[in-house]
Amino acid sequence: MLNENFPVKMFLGRGCLKNNSDLFSDFGKKCLIVTGKSSAILSGALKDVTDIFEISCISYEIFDEVEPNPLTLTCKKAGELAASINADFILGIGGGSVLDASKAIAIFASNPDLSHSKIYERAIPSAHLPVILIGTTSGTGSEVTGVSVLTNADTGLKKSISGKDCYAEVVFGDYTYTMSTPEDVRISTALDAFSHAVEAYLSSTENSDVLYFSSRALSYLKKYITSGSFSLLNDEDYESLYIASVYAGLAINLAGTCFPHTVGYYLTENYGIPHGRACAAFFPVFAARAKKYCPERFEAILKILDTDEKTLIENIIRVTDINIKIEKSEAQRISLRWKNGVKNFDRTPGGFTYKDAESALLSL
Ligand code: NAP
Ligand code: ZN
Repeated sequence: MLNENFPVKMFLGRGCLKNNSDLFSDFGKKCLIVTGKSSAILSGALKDVTDIFEISCISYEIFDEVEPNPLTLTCKKAGELAASINADFILGIGGGSVLDASKAIAIFASNPDLSHSKIYERAIPSAHLPVILIGTTSGTGSEVTGVSVLTNADTGLKKSISGKDCYAEVVFGDYTYTMSTPEDVRISTALDAFSHAVEAYLSSTENSDVLYFSSRALSYLKKYITSGSFSLLNDEDYESLYIASVYAGLAINLAGTCFPHTVGYYLTENYGIPHGRACAAFFPVFAARAKKYCPERFEAILKILDTDEKTLIENIIRVTDINIKIEKSEAQRISLRWKNGVKNFDRTPGGFTYKDAESALLSL
């Protein structure tokens, strides 16, 4: 199902990094390792990488300043560092924020005249350093998408860039690196994978591949979404959650996401709600539209999850667990941001307008 046009070489499973360590030398002798504050260390991935680099005589510097919802300015700063040390490639170790930042850093490294916010214009040379990614969360699927979501440091707004230059060359998907995630991160990232799977499955851009990838993701997520339990996980649980995130990533890479992702960005920007919870907060509204405009596909999802509509919605609300009330004046003001239309709205079952976004914000 992944044809020759899919550019990412992916290794999956416990030990996949060590088992393929000879591959790094193909990318050069100098690397900028990109991380957040602690996940690369806590997961054990950084130590595994630096051990390999020492044996392979690859020198490296570490940029550990990537924040959740990475800022364009941070990526620009790291891109300059990569250029100044003549890095041959970028290696990102972390959750979706670090993986997305790594993609942007690789672009900035090769385009020294590109200012931080100009990265959105996409009229830039697509030259970029090769990117290798090691994921430490089971959610975004950024490992397999040609997308990078960045926060514009000028406006504070989240916006994605996409294209051939946003794919990794190589991904090591070892679920054991996700085992150090705190429970709240595990829940939010699983909700992100769930949102990807349902939004892609129910989008107007679905096709047979999308339905396949989404249903695989939902099958792997079923146990956790329907029980709401993300604690006391064993090896197999972590593996299932990681595989789910990869399948869901493959689904959105083909179909895109729907309105919950766009409107969810506002909850992250303004209320600091983590990405997965912010998207899942709109599931009840999304499910109601799906039931109305594509009932067969909605029923198919319930069947895969072996549940009914009421139970599923109650479970998602309980697991999402956000407590925000938005006033009418705020909802009206914010929804104007989407007045000129958004691709994610067009893909939403039945279509979606900025007025619908206002109602969705009021539904929280
Ligand atoms: P994240 O923002 O990458 O990480 C959240 C927190 O979890 C951070 O504090 C991080 O620590 C910590 N963490 C990550 N892995 C850990 C581990 N193994 N052990 C302990 N702590 C760990 O969260 P995310 O949900 O994975 O990524 C969200 C971002 O991805 C958002 O910006 C979202 O918009 C984007 N996204 C991108 C795509 C795409 O296709 N590109 C799709 C969906 C979402 P550190 O700070 O130390 O790293
Ligand atoms: Zn997402």
